Amino acid sequence: MMVGCVAAVSYVRVGSVLRSPAHTRSQNCKPQWTMLCMQKQENTWAQMLVRAFREASATPLPLLRQVADAMTAEMYNGLAAEGGSQQLKMLPTYVENLPTGEEEGLYYAVDLGGTNFRVLRVLLGGKQGRILKQEFEEVAIPPALMLSTSRELFDFIASEVVKFMAKESDDFKPHSLDVREIGFAFSFPVLQTSVRSGVVIQWTKGFKIDDAIGKDIVAAFQESIGRLGKRIEIAALVNDTVGTLAQGRYFNTDTMIGVILGTGTNACYVEQADAVPKWKGPIPASGQMVINLEWGNFRSPYLPRTFADEEVDRDSVNPGDQWFEKMISGLYLGEIVRCVLVKFATDAVLFGGSVPLKLLKPFSLPTPAISKMHSDDSPELKLVKIVLEDIFEIKNSTLEARKIVHELCGIIVERGGRLAAAGIVGILQKIGRAGSRNNGTPVPNKATAVAIDGGLYEHYAQYQAHMHAAIVELLGENAAQSVVIELSKDGSGIGTALLAASHSQHAKRHKQAESLTN
Ligand code: ADP
Ligand code: MG
Repeated sequence: MMVGCVAAVSYVRVGSVLRSPAHTRSQNCKPQWTMLCMQKQENTWAQMLVRAFREASATPLPLLRQVADAMTAEMYNGLAAEGGSQQLKMLPTYVENLPTGEEEGLYYAVDLGGTNFRVLRVLLGGKQGRILKQEFEEVAIPPALMLSTSRELFDFIASEVVKFMAKESDDFKPHSLDVREIGFAFSFPVLQTSVRSGVVIQWTKGFKIDDAIGKDIVAAFQESIGRLGKRIEIAALVNDTVGTLAQGRYFNTDTMIGVILGTGTNACYVEQADAVPKWKGPIPASGQMVINLEWGNFRSPYLPRTFADEEVDRDSVNPGDQWFEKMISGLYLGEIVRCVLVKFATDAVLFGGSVPLKLLKPFSLPTPAISKMHSDDSPELKLVKIVLEDIFEIKNSTLEARKIVHELCGIIVERGGRLAAAGIVGILQKIGRAGSRNNGTPVPNKATAVAIDGGLYEHYAQYQAHMHAAIVELLGENAAQSVVIELSKDGSGIGTALLAASHSQHAKRHKQAESLTN
């Protein structure tokens, strides 16, 4: 548990990041795996396969531009069609009040992500005090619950929330003695009907709870809370991207985009309400609304998919869905590496005469393990050796094999980071923040911040570096100067508590009562 610490937000101006080496690579978009395998210049069969795989995974600038343009075009499609386009749902979130910094009082949040779920409390001190105090606990979601019933899942979450609330100390000074208000960050596609209600459209990231589809999850969660006899009210149901955007906005008013790069991936942004043709409701007072792209399901013929992506997709719980997510997010990067290693072990006898049995186990190579191997700069690649031994029981790996494993991690992570960059630039293009030219002269770009949360982005340094470099390549040095990428650490959780505050019914009633008595 972390106590009393102000939310950490670090800033990176992408314009100052060096270009990625990929910039100088071949501009071919999709070379043929088999043709390349037939060229015989390589030293070994395995090296030849690596070269072919590198080419098949390449993300040269022209391809990235096509991906970014396809993202922008698909955003327009999703905003026009009722229910979104086939790829991008472009969901209105009903969040109109992004935090201003003036929020006050004690608020809770529950952040149901993919791997863990977090529960936190935040004491807000208004404009001067900001975040006075915060505490959180993180609980691993028992794997069985990911494939269970909505009642089992929400009963578990409710009981963990109640346990956490019981540990609230006096210095959190509640604004109301008996009720606690909670923001609920739910990181799966939801069709919202208000800021406090919404139905699950689809499960992702390895979850599959069939009876929850089409159900109001706020009602389901509230019922589980009710069974425990507690007065806890859900003040806001938000996507985790929206929580991240909210925290970004709380600290930097230029924040227009929230992105998650963790177990899964998604993004949201601030749109002009009159630019949403499918919106039939009243135009919010601000004239703006936050739209959740659900970009994990983005797909494009320009995405450099390989045999490994096809295998990962085929063996997933949601084949055919979430192609973008399966190429760029934490749940899948390790699995892609594993699939490639199986092919190398089979076709190029990378680990000796037989394929190690443990290598065949799906999802046995988590992304933190590939980031550990990738960070290994020892001449003997000792960390790679350890990971191969620990996870796959591969003893006596050769240095050549370890070098190949190291290189494959690099290829897959470079592709992931660069494609994530293309997605972000697609959104910047949609809101006119990707720079423009007047008779060839660059027009200054409006300062824009992108808030990013998620363990993959936070912990995988090379992923982050490739992403930043590709944003600069796509925008050009000039426009990139006005784009700031923020690590909005724990933004999905804290931002959700901030949104509970900015949508609090109790705070509203309290203010109304105060104005009546004054
Ligand atoms: P969630 O997405 O479940 O809300 P997080 O944002 O904490 O949770 O992201 C967790 C994911 O981040 C893990 O599933 C993993 O894929 C990735 N991750 C965590 N630590 C690392 C690391 N050291 N290197 C690479 N990826 C990491
Ligand atoms: Mg999360």
